[in-house]
Amino acid sequence: MWGDLCKRVGRGWDLRPPRRCLLCCAWARQALCEACLRLHGDGHVPGARPRCPGCGLRLALGVSRCAGCEREPPAHGRVQVAVDYAHPWDRVMLEFKFGARPEHAAALALLMAQGVRQQAAAEPDQAALPTRLVPVPLSRERLAQRGYNQAWELTRQLARQLGVNARADALTRPVHLAGQAEQDRPTRLKRLRGVFQVSASGRAWVAGHRLGLVDDVLTTGATAAEAARTLMAAGAAEVQVWAFARTPAPEEGPS
Ligand SMILES: [Zn+2]
Ligand SMILES: [Zn+2]
Repeated sequence: MWGDLCKRVGRGWDLRPPRRCLLCCAWARQALCEACLRLHGDGHVPGARPRCPGCGLRLALGVSRCAGCEREPPAHGRVQVAVDYAHPWDRVMLEFKFGARPEHAAALALLMAQGVRQQAAAEPDQAALPTRLVPVPLSRERLAQRGYNQAWELTRQLARQLGVNARADALTRPVHLAGQAEQDRPTRLKRLRGVFQVSASGRAWVAGHRLGLVDDVLTTGATAAEAARTLMAAGAAEVQVWAFARTPAPEEGPS
């Protein structure tokens, strides 16, 4: 009997204890059940329009970039987004960020990793996938307040799922800014200028490498753009922006 069991384990029996799916509470082997992964993965949502590679917004039919990115192409590489910031993810994101639930990262990273793999499979040049991940850092004040950096929680999970490297201390945020929720992108960009810094120990790790900059939500994309600019100024070969959710444009509903 034991020999039989060992043979089955050897054939890839999944011995992880079952848990509840974050979204639908079904028993699952991982933080999101297979059905929710299929249902919510960006590539699977029926009728979903593709996203702009420069900012993650949904595109009008027949265009390859949004008007904003056409006018002012971003300096960073591709933006990869898993979902729209809308139901049911808005509730999950609030808990993740403000409700002391860092463990939600496991489920969110499953969808992000799925999107990254789909994108990599769609691109003939597989080498384009970054192999080093950096989270958008919080200021010391914000970190003390929240107790964890939600972007680092996502980064750690992604690094494990994709089998790539990650460092929390390569990029730092020495400057603390009070809330900027109501500001538009140009105002945010101006205020954010210079708030990030590549650490002395992070410099060699960043220089010459293709990086994935990880964040939880892109609202205007200004924070990620400034963080990416800082990494590129320190010699990064390319910085892709990987965010779990993207706030849709005002005239655009989730699709
Ligand atoms: Zn589920
Ligand atoms: Zn765009």
